Amino acid sequence: MDKYIESVYNSLIEKDPHQKVFHQAALEVLESLEPAIQKNSKYQEHSILERITEPERLIQFRIPWKNRDGKIQVNRGFRVQFNSALGPYKGGLRFHPTVTQGVLKFLGFEQVFKNSLTTLPMGGGKGGSDFDPKGKTDAEVEIFCESLMFELYRHIGQFIDVPAGDIGVGGREIGYLYGAFRKITNNHGTGVFTGKGAGWGGSLIRPEATGYGCVYFVQEMLKTRGEEMKDKTVVVSGSGNVAQYATEKCIDLGAKVIALSDSNGWIHDPDGIDRDKLAWVMDLKNVRRGRIKEYGEHFKVDYTETAKASPWSLKCDVALPSATQNEVDGKEAKMLVDNGVMAVGEGANMPTVPEGVEIFLEANVLFGPGKAANAGGVSVSGLEMAQNSQRFFWTREEVDAKLQQIMQAIHSNAYKTAEKFDKKSNYVIGANIAGFLKVADAMIAQGHRV
Ligand code: NDP
Repeated sequence: MDKYIESVYNSLIEKDPHQKVFHQAALEVLESLEPAIQKNSKYQEHSILERITEPERLIQFRIPWKNRDGKIQVNRGFRVQFNSALGPYKGGLRFHPTVTQGVLKFLGFEQVFKNSLTTLPMGGGKGGSDFDPKGKTDAEVEIFCESLMFELYRHIGQFIDVPAGDIGVGGREIGYLYGAFRKITNNHGTGVFTGKGAGWGGSLIRPEATGYGCVYFVQEMLKTRGEEMKDKTVVVSGSGNVAQYATEKCIDLGAKVIALSDSNGWIHDPDGIDRDKLAWVMDLKNVRRGRIKEYGEHFKVDYTETAKASPWSLKCDVALPSATQNEVDGKEAKMLVDNGVMAVGEGANMPTVPEGVEIFLEANVLFGPGKAANAGGVSVSGLEMAQNSQRFFWTREEVDAKLQQIMQAIHSNAYKTAEKFDKKSNYVIGANIAGFLKVADAMIAQGHRV
C-alpha cells in the first residue's frame, strides 16, 4: 500500500480502535484511490486524505422518552456532519439497535462520495439512533421522534443539513420528525427533510428511487456486455424500502425475483414474485409490520432461517443485496459466482465484505458498489430539494426520467474513470476515484480550513 495512504489508515485505527465498520469503509476507499493519489501530488500536499476521513462535526445527544407503561427510556442520538464541500450535509437517519458513532461514520463517509457522484450539489452526512422501532406502538415511535427532534432541530436546515430516511426510518417516522420540527421552529421549511409525503412537500418517486435506481444501474452494467434485465432470475435480500422497489422495477423490466428476506430468514418463490404478491409484501412490511416468514405460509413456498442456510445459495443471474452492511461474506460471494451470477448491484450500503468484493471482481462479475448503485435515493432527495426551492412539483414521469439520467451519468462516470486508470469494468475504483476527485478538488479550492 502507498505509504501516505497507509499512514492515514493507521491513524484512523489508532484514534478510534473500536470503529471497525468505519475502518472497513475507509480502507476500501483509500486503497482504491491509490492511482489518483500517486498521479497527482497535490492531494498529499493539501493533506486531503487526513481531512476527508475526519467528519467536520459529530453530534451525540441523549433522547429520553416515555414508553407505553409510563417508564422513561434513554436512547442515544447522533448526527455526523461529514463533509460540506459540495453542498449542505445530506444523508439519512437510521433507527436500529446496532447504531453507534462508528456505524454512522462509515455511512456518512460513504455518503460523501455517493453524493458527489449524483451530479447534484450535496455534501455528506448521516445520523440516527440506537432506538429499535420493532415492537413499538405508533404512539411510542411518535414520542421518540419528538424527543429526538428537541435536539436535532438546532443542527439542521435547508442550507445546513438535510436528513432523510434509512433503515427503520420510513414515511411514518419522517412525518413525525417533520411535524415536530415545524412545531418547535414555527417554520415550514419544507427543504429541511426529504422523503416527505407527496402531499406535503415530498417528491414523487422518492420512495421508489433507491430500488429503481439500483436496477437502472445494473441495467447499464449489463448493457456493457450486450445483456438486459429481461428474463434474468434475481435474488433480492431485505424486504424493506429498497428491496420492495428493486423488486418492482425488476418485474417492470421482465425479470423474475425469486427471493426476499428479513433479519430472520428468507423465502424462495421459484415462480417469481409478481405484482400481486409484491403488493402483499408491501402491506405485510409497511402496514402490518410482520415477518417475511408469513409470505412462506401464505403463498405456500419455502421459508428458511438465515442461521441455517444463506439466500445467496440460490442460483441467480443477478443479486441485489438490499438489507444491511456485511450481509454477503466471502463464502456467499463464492456460492454466487459458482452458480453463475452475472451482476451484483448493492442496494444496501457496503453489504459485501472486502473478500466478497475481491471474489466478484476476480470472477469478472459486474459489481455495482453501493455508493454508485444505490445513489438513486439521495439523487431524488436532491430533486426533492430542488422542487421545494422552486415551490413546484414535477410529475412522476419527469422525476423518473431524471432519475434514469442520473443513474446513467453515475454509471458512465464510474465506467470511464475506471478505464482512465486502466481498471476497465472495475466500478469500485471508478466510483471511488470519480466521487473523490470532485470533493477533494472543491476542498482544495476552498482553502485549508475546510
Ligand atoms: P428498511 O428498514 O426499509 O429495510 C431494511 C431491511 O433489511 C429489512 O427487511 C430488515 O429486516 C433487513 N435488515 C436490517 N438489518 C438486518 C440485519 N442485520 N440482517 C439481515 N437483515 C437485516 O431499510 P431500507 O430498505 O431503507 O435500507 C436497506 C439498506 O439500503 C440499508 O443498507 C440502507 O443504508 C441502504 N440505503 C437505503 C436508502 C433509502 O433510500 N432508504 C438509500 C441508500 C441506501 P428486519 O425487518 O428483520 O429488520
